[in-house]
Amino acid sequence: MSFKAVSKQEDPMAASPMVDLRSDTVTLPTPEMYERMANAPLGDDGLDFDPSARELEEYMAQVLGKEAGLFVPSCTMANLLATLTQSQSRQQIILDSSAHMYTSERGGATFTGLFYVGIPGQGGVIDLAETEDALKGNKSKLSTALVTMETSHNNSGGLVPPVAHMRNLYELAHQYGAQVHLDGARLFNAAVSLGVPAATLASCADTVAVCLSKGLSAPVGAVLTGSSAIIHSARQMRRMIGGTQRQVGIMAAAGKYAVEHMVDRLADDHKRAAMLSDQVNALDLPIAASQAQTNIVQVDVSHYGVDSSEWVKALKNLGLLTRPWGANKLRCVTHRHIKDSDIAHAVNCVKRVTSTFSH
Ligand SMILES: *Cc1c(COP(=O)(O)O)cnc(C)c1O
Repeated sequence: MSFKAVSKQEDPMAASPMVDLRSDTVTLPTPEMYERMANAPLGDDGLDFDPSARELEEYMAQVLGKEAGLFVPSCTMANLLATLTQSQSRQQIILDSSAHMYTSERGGATFTGLFYVGIPGQGGVIDLAETEDALKGNKSKLSTALVTMETSHNNSGGLVPPVAHMRNLYELAHQYGAQVHLDGARLFNAAVSLGVPAATLASCADTVAVCLSKGLSAPVGAVLTGSSAIIHSARQMRRMIGGTQRQVGIMAAAGKYAVEHMVDRLADDHKRAAMLSDQVNALDLPIAASQAQTNIVQVDVSHYGVDSSEWVKALKNLGLLTRPWGANKLRCVTHRHIKDSDIAHAVNCVKRVTSTFSH
């Protein structure tokens, strides 16, 4: 058996004239990941266990300072399992109303039998006093099972909540008998940005979900970590919702390589996001790029009165892929396939489109 390792020259992203800033999810596995995949010891993870999946689960738990880990097909499933295992139906869950779990995972939310209390956050952070009000109770007598946090915070443009706030929220939730889940889809981006070990952030939550297939460049999967008891019940629940897979070590092996080797280079993505933001703002046009704390930049194009989806089309014609973020903003995400010259190209594309949209 052999997998074709994609060399830099053959890398379809590198060969493409398009610069793709739609998401860090477009990253492809590295040759070393293919190597690990081809050589991974495998077993039936549904029957007894897959050794490579176990290796990743234990490694991730160790890296994050938790007792146990569980490999799952996606971070969406990790978040759902964290919710299901730490709640009973007819309880409530408190989260930032712009959290990915609230805005993009509401399909999963419909399976939980929980009431989702969204608190409008500021820069990816919910206010402690408002959270306490929600924890204190309500006329429906719903108790709060779970409070969630997200870092880096996707919808606020990759912002990273301060550790002190995370710790305060954790302590507050526990004071009221609630558990805390951290949606750390981009946990390592946050840790690199803050210059702290990922375990420091993980210590502010009972369970932590990390996505392997974003900036870390693994092809598939996420890991949920937490106490042995919670992970044991998450493993049972994963089977119930169809997330148990067989020779899953092929994917887990690439994921372990990603956590071992792809974390430090995230700083390069952050540096290029900052370059993009600074250079767009330096154009001296009525267009505003958000300050990049990690690898996400939001560009406010509302001044031109043209819907962001029209911008996306116009930019695509010039060789730049972005995504609309509401009617007024574009979302740009840097990742392993983006070089300095691609940032220059992106800025140039934005500049050219402004001239077609201004009258
Ligand atoms: C991408 C993302 C998820 C979902 O991850 P998938 O692996 O795509 O299911 C969850 N939370 C946040 C903050 C994300 O950015």
